[in-house]
Amino acid sequence: MKLGIDQQRLLTEIETLAAFSDAVPPAVTRIAFTPTDLKARAWVISRCEEAGLTVRQDAVGNTFARWSGAAPGAPAVGTGSHIDAIPNAGKYDGVVGVLGGLEAIRALQRSGFRPKNSIELLVFATEEPTRFGIGCLGSRLLSGTLSADTAGRLRDRDGESMDAVRRKAGLNGDLQDVKLPTGYYKGFVELHIEQGPLLERAQISLGVVMSIAAPASLRISIEGAGGHAGSVLMPDRKDALCAAAELILAVENAAQSRAAADTVATVGVCDVFPGAVNSIPSRVRMTLDIRDTDLTRRDGVMQTIELASQNTAAKRHVSIQSELLNADAPAHCAPEVRTALADSCRKHGAGFLEMVSRAYHDSLFISRIAPTGMLFIPCRNGYSHRPDEYAAPEDITRGALVLAEALAKMST
Ligand SMILES: [Zn+2]
Repeated sequence: MKLGIDQQRLLTEIETLAAFSDAVPPAVTRIAFTPTDLKARAWVISRCEEAGLTVRQDAVGNTFARWSGAAPGAPAVGTGSHIDAIPNAGKYDGVVGVLGGLEAIRALQRSGFRPKNSIELLVFATEEPTRFGIGCLGSRLLSGTLSADTAGRLRDRDGESMDAVRRKAGLNGDLQDVKLPTGYYKGFVELHIEQGPLLERAQISLGVVMSIAAPASLRISIEGAGGHAGSVLMPDRKDALCAAAELILAVENAAQSRAAADTVATVGVCDVFPGAVNSIPSRVRMTLDIRDTDLTRRDGVMQTIELASQNTAAKRHVSIQSELLNADAPAHCAPEVRTALADSCRKHGAGFLEMVSRAYHDSLFISRIAPTGMLFIPCRNGYSHRPDEYAAPEDITRGALVLAEALAKMST
Protein backbone atom coordinates (compact mmCIF):
# COMPACT_ATOMS: atom_id res chain seq x y z
CA MET A 1 0.00 0.00 0.00
CA LYS A 2 1.52 3.31 -1.12
CA LEU A 3 -0.19 6.12 0.77
CA GLY A 4 0.01 9.69 -0.43
CA ILE A 5 -1.84 12.75 0.87
CA ASP A 6 -2.97 15.31 -1.70
CA GLN A 7 -1.67 18.28 0.29
CA GLN A 8 -2.74 20.92 -2.21
CA ARG A 9 -6.29 19.68 -2.34
CA LEU A 10 -6.55 19.36 1.44
CA LEU A 11 -5.24 22.89 2.01
CA THR A 12 -7.57 24.29 -0.64
CA GLU A 13 -10.51 22.57 1.03
CA ILE A 14 -9.54 24.02 4.43
CA GLU A 15 -9.51 27.50 2.83
CA THR A 16 -12.85 26.88 1.10
CA LEU A 17 -14.48 25.78 4.35
CA ALA A 18 -13.06 28.84 6.14
CA ALA A 19 -14.97 31.04 3.70
CA PHE A 20 -18.26 29.74 5.18
CA SER A 21 -18.08 32.24 8.01
CA ASP A 22 -19.93 35.08 9.68
CA ALA A 23 -16.73 36.96 10.56
CA VAL A 24 -14.26 39.03 8.57
CA PRO A 25 -11.34 36.83 7.40
CA PRO A 26 -9.08 35.45 8.73
CA ALA A 27 -11.53 35.09 11.63
CA VAL A 28 -14.07 32.30 11.36
CA THR A 29 -17.46 32.33 13.07
CA ARG A 30 -19.68 29.35 12.39
CA ILE A 31 -22.28 28.85 15.09
CA ALA A 32 -24.22 25.60 15.06
CA PHE A 33 -27.39 25.57 12.94
CA THR A 34 -26.92 29.08 11.55
CA PRO A 35 -27.41 29.31 7.76
CA THR A 36 -23.61 29.54 7.45
CA ASP A 37 -23.07 26.35 9.44
CA LEU A 38 -25.72 24.53 7.40
CA LYS A 39 -24.17 25.66 4.12
CA ALA A 40 -20.74 24.56 5.31
CA ARG A 41 -22.14 21.16 6.27
CA ALA A 42 -23.83 20.78 2.88
CA TRP A 43 -20.51 21.57 1.22
CA VAL A 44 -18.68 18.95 3.31
CA ILE A 45 -21.39 16.42 2.43
CA SER A 46 -20.88 17.18 -1.28
CA ARG A 47 -17.13 16.50 -0.85
CA CYS A 48 -17.91 13.18 0.85
CA GLU A 49 -20.32 12.16 -1.88
CA GLU A 50 -17.77 13.06 -4.51
CA ALA A 51 -15.43 10.61 -2.77
CA GLY A 52 -18.09 7.92 -3.21
CA LEU A 53 -19.04 7.80 0.47
CA THR A 54 -22.59 7.03 1.59
CA VAL A 55 -23.86 9.93 3.69
CA ARG A 56 -26.53 9.96 6.37
CA GLN A 57 -27.50 12.51 9.01
CA ASP A 58 -29.10 11.79 12.35
CA ALA A 59 -31.75 13.86 14.14
CA VAL A 60 -29.29 16.30 15.73
CA GLY A 61 -27.21 16.73 12.57
CA ASN A 62 -24.31 14.37 13.23
CA THR A 63 -23.20 13.47 9.72
CA PHE A 64 -21.82 10.03 8.83
CA ALA A 65 -19.99 9.37 5.55
CA ARG A 66 -19.22 5.71 5.08
CA TRP A 67 -16.82 3.82 2.87
CA SER A 68 -18.22 0.31 2.92
CA GLY A 69 -15.81 -2.44 3.82
CA ALA A 70 -15.65 -6.06 2.69
CA ALA A 71 -17.57 -6.97 5.87
CA PRO A 72 -20.25 -4.25 5.87
CA GLY A 73 -22.08 -5.76 8.85
CA ALA A 74 -18.98 -5.62 11.10
CA PRO A 75 -18.38 -2.65 13.42
CA ALA A 76 -17.02 0.38 11.58
CA VAL A 77 -13.76 2.21 12.12
CA GLY A 78 -14.56 5.86 12.71
CA THR A 79 -12.73 9.14 12.37
CA GLY A 80 -13.86 12.73 12.40
CA SER A 81 -14.32 15.94 14.31
CA HIS A 82 -16.47 19.08 14.10
CA ILE A 83 -16.88 22.08 11.81
CA ASP A 84 -18.78 24.50 14.04
CA ALA A 85 -16.62 27.36 15.33
CA ILE A 86 -16.96 29.79 18.21
CA PRO A 87 -17.21 33.52 17.42
CA ASN A 88 -13.97 34.95 16.07
CA ALA A 89 -12.20 31.60 15.85
CA GLY A 90 -9.64 30.22 13.42
CA LYS A 91 -9.88 27.81 10.52
CA TYR A 92 -8.22 24.63 11.89
CA ASP A 93 -9.99 23.61 15.12
CA GLY A 94 -12.15 20.62 14.22
CA VAL A 95 -11.75 21.22 10.49
CA VAL A 96 -8.37 19.44 10.33
CA GLY A 97 -10.01 16.31 11.71
CA VAL A 98 -12.94 16.47 9.28
CA LEU A 99 -11.17 17.38 6.04
CA GLY A 100 -7.98 15.55 7.11
CA GLY A 101 -10.13 12.50 7.83
CA LEU A 102 -11.79 12.77 4.44
CA GLU A 103 -8.42 13.09 2.70
CA ALA A 104 -7.13 10.09 4.71
CA ILE A 105 -10.02 8.04 3.31
CA ARG A 106 -9.36 9.30 -0.23
CA ALA A 107 -5.66 8.46 0.18
CA LEU A 108 -6.59 4.91 1.18
CA GLN A 109 -8.93 4.66 -1.81
CA ARG A 110 -6.19 5.86 -4.18
CA SER A 111 -3.72 3.39 -2.71
CA GLY A 112 -5.94 0.47 -3.70
CA PHE A 113 -6.52 -0.49 -0.07
CA ARG A 114 -9.75 -2.36 0.55
CA PRO A 115 -11.01 -2.14 4.14
CA LYS A 116 -12.56 -5.12 5.90
CA ASN A 117 -14.44 -2.98 8.41
CA SER A 118 -16.21 -0.01 6.89
CA ILE A 119 -14.41 3.29 7.46
CA GLU A 120 -16.66 6.14 8.44
CA LEU A 121 -16.09 9.87 8.64
CA LEU A 122 -18.18 11.46 11.38
CA VAL A 123 -18.84 15.20 11.42
CA PHE A 124 -20.15 15.87 14.91
CA ALA A 125 -22.98 18.35 15.44
CA THR A 126 -22.67 21.28 17.84
CA GLU A 127 -19.29 20.57 19.41
CA GLU A 128 -18.85 24.11 20.64
CA PRO A 129 -21.02 25.22 23.57
CA THR A 130 -21.70 28.64 21.99
CA ARG A 131 -25.30 28.09 21.03
CA PHE A 132 -26.77 25.83 23.71
CA GLY A 133 -24.33 26.34 26.58
CA ILE A 134 -23.07 22.77 26.53
CA GLY A 135 -20.24 21.39 24.42
CA CYS A 136 -20.23 18.17 22.42
CA LEU A 137 -24.00 17.96 22.14
CA GLY A 138 -23.81 15.59 19.16
CA SER A 139 -21.38 13.16 20.77
CA ARG A 140 -23.14 13.30 24.14
CA LEU A 141 -26.29 12.09 22.36
CA LEU A 142 -24.41 9.49 20.30
CA SER A 143 -22.93 8.03 23.48
CA GLY A 144 -26.10 8.29 25.54
CA THR A 145 -24.32 10.59 28.02
CA LEU A 146 -27.16 13.11 27.65
CA SER A 147 -30.81 12.15 27.32
CA ALA A 148 -32.77 13.09 24.22
CA ASP A 149 -35.35 14.93 26.34
CA THR A 150 -32.79 17.09 28.15
CA ALA A 151 -30.99 17.84 24.88
CA GLY A 152 -34.19 18.80 23.09
CA ARG A 153 -35.12 21.24 25.84
CA LEU A 154 -31.79 23.11 25.84
CA ARG A 155 -32.29 26.73 24.83
CA ASP A 156 -30.14 29.21 22.98
CA ARG A 157 -29.74 32.87 23.94
CA ASP A 158 -32.94 33.77 22.06
CA GLY A 159 -34.86 31.24 24.13
CA GLU A 160 -35.38 28.89 21.23
CA SER A 161 -35.20 25.19 22.09
CA MET A 162 -32.65 22.90 20.48
CA ASP A 163 -35.54 20.77 19.29
CA ALA A 164 -37.12 23.71 17.46
CA VAL A 165 -33.78 24.87 16.06
CA ARG A 166 -32.87 21.50 14.59
CA ARG A 167 -36.33 21.03 13.11
CA LYS A 168 -36.02 24.39 11.36
CA ALA A 169 -32.79 23.05 9.90
CA GLY A 170 -34.79 20.19 8.39
CA LEU A 171 -33.80 17.57 10.96
CA ASN A 172 -37.09 15.96 11.92
CA GLY A 173 -36.02 12.52 13.11
CA ASP A 174 -36.44 11.28 16.67
CA LEU A 175 -33.67 12.46 19.02
CA GLN A 176 -34.02 9.13 20.86
CA ASP A 177 -32.60 7.42 17.79
CA VAL A 178 -29.32 9.38 17.84
CA LYS A 179 -27.69 7.07 20.40
CA LEU A 180 -25.47 4.58 18.61
CA PRO A 181 -26.08 0.86 19.14
CA THR A 182 -23.52 -0.98 21.27
CA GLY A 183 -20.53 -2.09 19.23
CA TYR A 184 -21.21 0.36 16.41
CA TYR A 185 -17.53 1.32 16.24
CA LYS A 186 -14.60 -1.05 16.42
CA GLY A 187 -12.45 1.97 17.10
CA PHE A 188 -12.47 5.73 16.68
CA VAL A 189 -9.65 8.24 16.06
CA GLU A 190 -9.94 12.01 16.06
CA LEU A 191 -7.25 14.10 14.38
CA HIS A 192 -7.07 17.57 15.93
CA ILE A 193 -4.76 20.53 16.42
CA GLU A 194 -3.18 20.42 19.86
CA GLN A 195 -4.60 23.79 20.99
CA GLY A 196 -1.60 24.01 23.30
CA PRO A 197 2.13 24.74 22.88
CA LEU A 198 3.79 21.47 23.90
CA LEU A 199 4.39 19.85 20.50
CA GLU A 200 5.78 23.06 19.05
CA ARG A 201 8.05 23.55 22.06
CA ALA A 202 9.31 19.98 21.83
CA GLN A 203 9.64 20.33 18.03
CA ILE A 204 7.79 17.07 17.63
CA SER A 205 5.27 16.84 14.84
CA LEU A 206 2.66 14.48 16.29
CA GLY A 207 1.00 13.77 19.61
CA VAL A 208 -0.62 10.49 20.58
CA VAL A 209 -3.14 11.30 23.28
CA MET A 210 -3.15 9.13 26.41
CA SER A 211 -6.03 10.79 28.28
CA ILE A 212 -8.50 13.64 27.90
CA ALA A 213 -8.95 16.08 30.78
CA ALA A 214 -12.31 16.21 32.50
CA PRO A 215 -14.27 19.45 32.22
CA ALA A 216 -16.87 20.65 34.67
CA SER A 217 -18.89 23.81 34.44
CA LEU A 218 -20.89 25.79 36.95
CA ARG A 219 -23.33 28.64 36.54
CA ILE A 220 -23.11 31.08 39.42
CA SER A 221 -25.84 33.66 40.08
CA ILE A 222 -25.13 36.48 42.49
CA GLU A 223 -28.04 38.56 43.75
CA GLY A 224 -27.20 41.81 45.49
CA ALA A 225 -29.16 45.06 45.58
CA GLY A 226 -29.32 47.71 42.89
CA GLY A 227 -29.70 51.42 43.33
CA HIS A 228 -28.56 54.82 42.16
CA ALA A 229 -24.80 55.02 41.69
CA GLY A 230 -24.83 58.45 43.25
CA SER A 231 -27.25 58.15 46.13
CA VAL A 232 -26.44 54.80 47.75
CA LEU A 233 -23.37 55.27 49.97
CA MET A 234 -20.64 52.66 50.04
CA PRO A 235 -21.41 51.08 53.46
CA ASP A 236 -25.01 50.46 52.36
CA ARG A 237 -24.21 48.64 49.17
CA LYS A 238 -24.71 45.03 48.14
CA ASP A 239 -22.89 45.30 44.84
CA ALA A 240 -23.21 42.00 42.97
CA LEU A 241 -20.33 42.77 40.62
CA CYS A 242 -17.89 43.49 43.47
CA ALA A 243 -18.85 40.13 44.94
CA ALA A 244 -18.32 38.54 41.52
CA ALA A 245 -14.87 40.14 41.24
CA GLU A 246 -13.87 38.66 44.59
CA LEU A 247 -15.15 35.26 43.57
CA ILE A 248 -13.41 35.31 40.18
CA LEU A 249 -10.06 35.84 41.88
CA ALA A 250 -10.89 33.03 44.30
CA VAL A 251 -11.51 30.76 41.30
CA GLU A 252 -8.13 31.67 39.86
CA ASN A 253 -6.47 31.04 43.18
CA ALA A 254 -8.26 27.71 43.66
CA ALA A 255 -6.67 26.38 40.49
CA GLN A 256 -3.30 28.10 40.91
CA SER A 257 -2.77 26.83 44.43
CA ARG A 258 -2.95 23.21 43.24
CA ALA A 259 0.52 21.85 42.56
CA ALA A 260 -0.59 20.12 39.38
CA ALA A 261 -0.12 21.86 36.04
CA ASP A 262 -3.18 20.05 34.71
CA THR A 263 -5.58 21.99 36.95
CA VAL A 264 -7.18 25.01 35.26
CA ALA A 265 -10.21 27.15 36.08
CA THR A 266 -11.74 30.00 34.09
CA VAL A 267 -14.64 32.41 34.36
CA GLY A 268 -15.44 33.03 30.71
CA VAL A 269 -18.92 34.51 30.96
CA CYS A 270 -19.98 37.34 33.24
CA ASP A 271 -23.31 39.06 32.59
CA VAL A 272 -24.02 42.16 34.67
CA PHE A 273 -27.52 43.51 35.34
CA PRO A 274 -28.84 46.07 34.76
CA GLY A 275 -25.63 47.13 33.01
CA ALA A 276 -26.00 50.91 33.27
CA VAL A 277 -23.21 53.32 34.14
CA ASN A 278 -25.22 55.04 36.89
CA SER A 279 -26.70 51.93 38.45
CA ILE A 280 -25.23 49.60 41.07
CA PRO A 281 -25.06 46.05 39.69
CA SER A 282 -27.85 44.08 41.31
CA ARG A 283 -27.25 40.73 39.68
CA VAL A 284 -24.37 38.87 38.04
CA ARG A 285 -24.44 35.58 36.21
CA MET A 286 -21.14 33.87 35.58
CA THR A 287 -20.14 30.60 34.01
CA LEU A 288 -17.09 28.74 35.32
CA ASP A 289 -15.06 26.08 33.57
CA ILE A 290 -12.84 23.81 35.64
CA ARG A 291 -10.69 21.06 34.16
CA ASP A 292 -8.28 18.41 35.24
CA THR A 293 -7.04 15.00 34.23
CA ASP A 294 -7.68 13.84 37.79
CA LEU A 295 -11.28 13.70 38.91
CA THR A 296 -10.55 13.90 42.66
CA ARG A 297 -8.33 16.94 42.25
CA ARG A 298 -10.92 18.68 40.09
CA ASP A 299 -13.64 18.00 42.59
CA GLY A 300 -11.34 19.47 45.27
CA VAL A 301 -11.11 22.72 43.29
CA MET A 302 -14.89 22.81 43.00
CA GLN A 303 -15.23 22.44 46.76
CA THR A 304 -12.76 25.28 47.32
CA ILE A 305 -14.81 27.49 45.00
CA GLU A 306 -18.02 26.56 46.81
CA LEU A 307 -16.43 27.57 50.11
CA ALA A 308 -15.24 30.86 48.63
CA SER A 309 -18.82 31.54 47.41
CA GLN A 310 -20.17 31.04 50.91
CA ASN A 311 -17.54 33.37 52.39
CA THR A 312 -18.17 36.09 49.82
CA ALA A 313 -21.95 35.82 50.28
CA ALA A 314 -21.63 36.21 54.05
CA LYS A 315 -19.12 39.04 53.87
CA ARG A 316 -20.95 41.09 51.24
CA HIS A 317 -24.55 40.27 52.18
CA VAL A 318 -25.40 38.96 48.76
CA SER A 319 -26.92 35.62 47.84
CA ILE A 320 -24.87 33.28 45.68
CA GLN A 321 -26.39 30.24 43.97
CA SER A 322 -24.38 27.79 41.98
CA GLU A 323 -25.75 25.30 39.54
CA LEU A 324 -23.70 22.42 38.18
CA LEU A 325 -24.11 22.45 34.40
CA ASN A 326 -21.97 19.41 33.73
CA ALA A 327 -19.18 17.43 35.33
CA ASP A 328 -17.79 14.88 32.95
CA ALA A 329 -15.31 12.19 33.90
CA PRO A 330 -11.91 12.17 32.19
CA ALA A 331 -11.26 9.59 29.49
CA HIS A 332 -8.34 7.30 28.94
CA CYS A 333 -7.57 6.51 25.34
CA ALA A 334 -7.83 2.87 24.28
CA PRO A 335 -4.51 0.96 24.21
CA GLU A 336 -5.29 -0.64 20.83
CA VAL A 337 -5.95 2.73 19.18
CA ARG A 338 -2.87 4.28 20.78
CA THR A 339 -0.81 1.36 19.51
CA ALA A 340 -2.25 1.71 15.98
CA LEU A 341 -1.34 5.42 16.04
CA ALA A 342 2.15 4.87 17.47
CA ASP A 343 2.90 2.09 14.94
CA SER A 344 1.67 4.34 12.12
CA CYS A 345 3.94 7.18 13.30
CA ARG A 346 6.91 4.82 13.35
CA LYS A 347 6.09 3.40 9.92
CA HIS A 348 6.18 6.89 8.45
CA GLY A 349 9.27 7.94 10.39
CA ALA A 350 7.35 10.55 12.35
CA GLY A 351 8.39 11.25 15.94
CA PHE A 352 5.56 11.54 18.43
CA LEU A 353 4.90 12.67 21.95
CA GLU A 354 2.54 10.83 24.28
CA MET A 355 0.39 13.53 25.82
CA VAL A 356 -2.74 14.63 27.64
CA SER A 357 -5.52 16.52 25.89
CA ARG A 358 -6.33 19.46 28.13
CA ALA A 359 -9.10 20.65 25.89
CA TYR A 360 -12.02 18.28 25.61
CA HIS A 361 -13.35 16.90 22.41
CA ASP A 362 -16.11 14.72 21.03
CA SER A 363 -13.68 11.84 21.57
CA LEU A 364 -14.22 12.20 25.31
CA PHE A 365 -17.80 11.02 24.82
CA ILE A 366 -17.15 8.54 22.01
CA SER A 367 -14.66 6.88 24.39
CA ARG A 368 -17.67 5.84 26.50
CA ILE A 369 -18.96 3.61 23.69
CA ALA A 370 -15.92 2.70 21.60
CA PRO A 371 -12.15 2.24 21.88
CA THR A 372 -11.04 5.79 21.13
CA GLY A 373 -7.82 7.68 20.52
CA MET A 374 -6.68 11.09 19.36
CA LEU A 375 -3.83 12.28 17.18
CA PHE A 376 -2.59 15.84 17.66
CA ILE A 377 -0.65 18.08 15.31
CA PRO A 378 1.08 21.29 16.48
CA CYS A 379 -0.48 24.71 16.13
CA ARG A 380 1.57 27.89 16.15
CA ASN A 381 2.23 29.23 19.67
CA GLY A 382 -0.47 26.87 20.89
CA TYR A 383 -3.05 29.43 19.73
CA SER A 384 -6.59 28.23 19.16
CA HIS A 385 -10.08 29.72 19.26
CA ARG A 386 -8.67 32.91 17.76
CA PRO A 387 -8.26 34.18 14.20
CA ASP A 388 -4.47 33.68 14.08
CA GLU A 389 -4.79 29.97 14.83
CA TYR A 390 -2.40 28.25 12.40
CA ALA A 391 -1.24 24.75 11.58
CA ALA A 392 1.60 24.25 9.07
CA PRO A 393 0.80 22.44 5.81
CA GLU A 394 3.44 19.77 6.44
CA ASP A 395 1.98 19.02 9.88
CA ILE A 396 -1.57 18.78 8.53
CA THR A 397 -0.36 16.46 5.78
CA ARG A 398 1.64 14.29 8.18
CA GLY A 399 -1.36 14.07 10.49
CA ALA A 400 -3.65 12.95 7.67
CA LEU A 401 -1.07 10.41 6.49
CA VAL A 402 -0.60 8.82 9.92
CA LEU A 403 -4.37 8.86 10.41
CA ALA A 404 -4.85 7.03 7.10
CA GLU A 405 -2.30 4.40 8.10
CA ALA A 406 -3.96 3.92 11.50
CA LEU A 407 -7.43 3.61 9.92
CA ALA A 408 -6.05 0.95 7.58
CA LYS A 409 -4.52 -1.00 10.50
CA MET A 410 -7.79 -0.85 12.42
CA SER A 411 -9.96 -1.91 9.49
CA THR A 412 -8.16 -5.12 8.55
ZN1 LIG B 1 -12.22 21.22 18.34
